[in-house]
Amino acid sequence: MRVLVTGGAGFIGSAVVRHLVLVRNYNVLTVDKLTYAGNLASLAPIDGNPLHRFLRADICDRAMMQEAFDSFKPEWVMHLAAESHVDRSITGARDFVETNVIGSFTLLEAARHYWQDLAGKAKADFRFLHVSTDEVYGSLGEDGLFTEETPYDPSSPYSASKAASDHLAKAWGRTYGMPVIVSNCSNNYGPYHFPEKLIPLSVLNALEGKSLPIYGSGANIRDWLFVEDHARALGLIAERGRVGETYNIGGRNERRNIEVVRKICSIMDNMRPRKAPHVRLIAYVADRPGHDARYAIDATKIETELGWKAEENFDTGIEKTVKWYLENEWWWTPLRQESSGGRLGLLNGSGDN
Ligand code: NAD
Repeated sequence: MRVLVTGGAGFIGSAVVRHLVLVRNYNVLTVDKLTYAGNLASLAPIDGNPLHRFLRADICDRAMMQEAFDSFKPEWVMHLAAESHVDRSITGARDFVETNVIGSFTLLEAARHYWQDLAGKAKADFRFLHVSTDEVYGSLGEDGLFTEETPYDPSSPYSASKAASDHLAKAWGRTYGMPVIVSNCSNNYGPYHFPEKLIPLSVLNALEGKSLPIYGSGANIRDWLFVEDHARALGLIAERGRVGETYNIGGRNERRNIEVVRKICSIMDNMRPRKAPHVRLIAYVADRPGHDARYAIDATKIETELGWKAEENFDTGIEKTVKWYLENEWWWTPLRQESSGGRLGLLNGSGDN
């Protein structure tokens, strides 16, 4: 099996690449521009593995994408390359439109030209899995869950650009008959998460005795999904998902942001005790504009159709995650230094997504 993974040097993409190579023994071509969020160190566990190749390229570069398809001849494409940080999209949306919309369009076109020339089983079995977010559905109130039928209603420049790319991917399926599947998942967490996001930032700031910034009152609710559960889900969707369908992926682990940070504090109290409890480091900062109140996923479809279920609950997953950061300073130290250990999100808090 040959799989082309875009964004494979990013947080989720690298988990997908590690899963495909180490668990499934597939041949993988990682295509990644290596923006600030791309990090080849996240692929260290497969360094030198003959099943893996890396191509540094921009998905907006049509000629390079076509060359990647024509030479590697993928059977699946798993498209994860994106600008992904909501705070950055608020300060400057151009890169989000370029990569998430134009880049996805460019990749779809390169895939279509390659796929059109395939024949028989190769053509029928080809899959283009477009990986997206539950943020395209907007915000939930106190009740209810996002299903695959929830209408799109994005709030931020990030989620609007992802919504646009979802529509493009679906249109390439309906218009050209290309075998496209879309997945929308909730907030991921786990090892190799860039330290500007809520969970790694809180762990590392707690470790260094720095303040733990929380937007607003910390009441925003996210449904947390362990990244390795997500990687497994994406493999199953590409393998057995129905063409033209959307699959929502969520961990059934809803938590308020403040609960997440308090949990990290209590784990840190055990693993790295300080004189004062870590919870005293929490600092509330002005809320992010357009901050969605609640996201929560109904994962019934992927659970019943594909037999997938999140293996980690939040308590087990967060414990593993904190432990990983404490044991893998080599990975995050250079990233912390680049951002001076301070202004990690571009607004004044730490983005949960
Ligand atoms: P990330 O920011 O960690 O990684 C993105 C990767 O894409 C990086 O390696 C970056 O170098 C690469 N990239 C960016 N622009 C590129 C370009 N023009 N050409 C080639 N490569 C480029 O993101 P992530 O958190 O791993 O998210 C992966 C995907 O999953 C994204 O599509 C994102 O929208 C989606 N998603 C993420 C979450 C989450 O909680 N992190 C939740 C739902 C959906």
